[in-house]
Amino acid sequence: MAELNPFKIAQAQLAEAAEKLGLDDATHEFLRWPRREYRFTLPIRMDNGKTKVFHGYRVQYNNARGPTKGGLRWHPDETIDTVRALAAWMTWKCAVVDIPLGGGKGGVTCNPKEMSEREKERLARAYIRAVGSELGVHRDVPAPDVYTNPQIMAWMMDEYEAMHGHSHPGMITGKPIPLGGSQGRGDATARGGVYIVREALATMKVDPKSTSYAVQGFGNAGQFAATLHAEILGGGKLIAVSDSRGGIINRQGLDPQRVIHHKLETGKVADFPGSEPISNEDLLELEVDVLYPAALENAITGENAERIQAKVICELANGPTTPEADAILHKKGVFLLPDLLANAGGVTVSYFEQVQNTYNYYWSLDDVQAQLDRKMTDAFNAVYAMQQKEKVHMRLAAYLVAVARVAEACKLRGWV
Ligand code: NAD
Repeated sequence: MAELNPFKIAQAQLAEAAEKLGLDDATHEFLRWPRREYRFTLPIRMDNGKTKVFHGYRVQYNNARGPTKGGLRWHPDETIDTVRALAAWMTWKCAVVDIPLGGGKGGVTCNPKEMSEREKERLARAYIRAVGSELGVHRDVPAPDVYTNPQIMAWMMDEYEAMHGHSHPGMITGKPIPLGGSQGRGDATARGGVYIVREALATMKVDPKSTSYAVQGFGNAGQFAATLHAEILGGGKLIAVSDSRGGIINRQGLDPQRVIHHKLETGKVADFPGSEPISNEDLLELEVDVLYPAALENAITGENAERIQAKVICELANGPTTPEADAILHKKGVFLLPDLLANAGGVTVSYFEQVQNTYNYYWSLDDVQAQLDRKMTDAFNAVYAMQQKEKVHMRLAAYLVAVARVAEACKLRGWV
């Protein structure tokens, strides 16, 4: 279905913002498309001696505000349109947190779960040999995303440096710390999300210490959100969490650290001692102050939005709410913190990593967290002010802030 094509959704979201901003036709058309995209084949010798041909992509969506930046997904369902949509969203995300970067994204259609470490290393190095001449700290900077990780970034940096003959740590972020990775990258996405939950609660005059919260998706982003909510807000009760194998609830409160430990031991949150089971669907509809969707796209839809009882929704996942649900939640008065704002902490600390690599001096964890707090709080304030001024829902407000900034940079360059 055309409506589910992520790039078409990204273009429709832009169109709404363009109309509201009164963008001229040329600027709107220019922002509807990636500036450049690369598609290439990657023949890889597999461990069984046979050669397998993979398809790779890199999309450089818009570089008006700085070098393009965005992760690399290695996923069986990867298509050029997914990569284009994610590259567009990176453009708006970097603009909303006001970091001097554009948006990009890349990927390989593959299933890393079926590949050995040696095969992954060959694929990582082949990717850089295919497109490395188009990357660089001043051009386009990849990072980890779905099914890629710091080790893959390390192989890619090593291959890039071998091609160029000197050190280039800032050509990629999300590296292991001994190779120039930043302190604080691991929990940055969830931490940034909790910082803006704090700001949203302040505008609502809700005492953060007395909040109840639930987390859908208990991976990287969800686990950190579960612990950081209480840590950063000075209190709060985690009522329910879930992963792909089901959810758990305890209205007296769950200890996040113990649930993480249980998940590490058993591979799931289900059967955590002292909890009752709850389905993923019911978890979303719980009466809580804050709901963190941290799993996949399309969790909140036109079908269940009316039954959502959370006061604040912090979208750590990309695209958890459909456009139809957005309208319903807005009407119900739910305070929605949209993905391009709520999960921008990850790319913000990636940018800090690049800055540290460039001047070859490394910050303490305290410095990283203080700078992240400032960036996220400023971004929240800009989006909230736009929402109050235009009386639109928060996602559109975030788009208005981001698209206006990118359009202004394009105009100043004389492109449109
Ligand atoms: P992850 O793979 O570590 O965790 C995903 C979790 O979701 C897993 O616990 C999985 O069991 C669970 N899950 C899958 N299907 C589910 C379902 N139907 N119901 C409930 N749980 C389900 O991934 P992650 O890095 O934590 O990313 C989660 C989301 O956050 C993604 O949308 C990702 O794009 C977004 N995000 C992550 C980062 C980051 O820095 N990790 C940055 C920006 C955005």
